[in-house]
Amino acid sequence: MSLQSEARVDLAAIRANVATVSGLTRADVMAVVKADGYGHGLVPAARAALAGGASWIGVATLDEALSLRAAGITAPILAWLIAPKQPVRAAIEADVELSVATDWLLEDVVAAAGAAGRTARVQLKVDTGLGRGGAGLPEWPELVASAAKHAATGIIEITGIWSHFARADEPGDPSIVVQQENFTLALALAKDAGVDPPLRHLANSAAALTLPSAHYDLVRAGIAIYGYSPIPGQKFGLRPAMTMRGSVAVVKRLPAGHGISYGHIYTTSRDTTVALVPLGYGDGIPRQASNVAPLWVGGQRQTIAGRVCMDQFVVDVGDLPVDVGDDAVLFGPGDDGEPTADDWAVALDTISYEIVTRVGARVPRTYIGEETA
Ligand SMILES: *Cc1c(COP(=O)(O)O)cnc(C)c1O
Repeated sequence: MSLQSEARVDLAAIRANVATVSGLTRADVMAVVKADGYGHGLVPAARAALAGGASWIGVATLDEALSLRAAGITAPILAWLIAPKQPVRAAIEADVELSVATDWLLEDVVAAAGAAGRTARVQLKVDTGLGRGGAGLPEWPELVASAAKHAATGIIEITGIWSHFARADEPGDPSIVVQQENFTLALALAKDAGVDPPLRHLANSAAALTLPSAHYDLVRAGIAIYGYSPIPGQKFGLRPAMTMRGSVAVVKRLPAGHGISYGHIYTTSRDTTVALVPLGYGDGIPRQASNVAPLWVGGQRQTIAGRVCMDQFVVDVGDLPVDVGDDAVLFGPGDDGEPTADDWAVALDTISYEIVTRVGARVPRTYIGEETA
């Protein structure tokens, strides 16, 4: 039996990609596995990254961190996106490090640590210019002072200071240097206030791959470990880990001039064979892929014909001998001519991150390239 659709994840590629990143830096590597490991599977991605040499795991939410702990992953974990009323106490009890950038969260963490009778490990986040999360530089001294006051009682331990780039995927952009200067300033201000933690980190995949001066003690690599470069046109030897495929479910001949799928936004131009692929927006295939996204079927590159529906779409394969049960490969590493998620990103005016991450829960993840004992 074979699966009618599948996102096949090559764990050996994830291990190799971590090693590739690691080879470019003296810093430790944090593997970012938020959003179900960018769609590759939270726990399998984390395990493969650790096997490949990552020493830290990064996630957005506390639920993600707790799921990793529940699966038996003991490596250090940092969680950085915490709204009110989240399981902060459980996270402290599970040895999850917490990113703190606001007074309210600092107070929540202190209260939860008190209730748990444990010291909470906290990393302070500064906004060096991204304009998203993190304490702004005007608020930074006050946050550092409050955190230092709590650290003096032993209720928290400040283990790190960190920040995040806006445009590291555009090497040479002037904002990069500005953010680096602001990070240096934030570190100095903290040090003046007696806060000089062992971990300083600023780099995402793009900076890990291109900007050694931003590596500090740790680089946070997300997309690179899944095999995609954040920088257009440069591959850095990374290998895409996910192959998205479906089995052709219907093949039939249609005459010239026949409309295809909802809205008939595609019309056959001659007598032709059409093949139906059982994947749709219910599986995370963007509806914007209608008439534009590439795939590999019948030994050739094709383009989706007509609308992507909830569960299915159609390909016009001309006179190619495509059969029911044949593989339609939407994207993969590109070895056999199939498109990559980068090709999808270009066709859909988005980024590889979104293509792989939005693969839906209905699509089974299968794994190859497990480590042999
Ligand atoms: C997602 C994320 C990363 C990883 O970014 P990539 O570009 O995928 O390497 C790093 N740091 C933070 C704060 C993130 O949210």
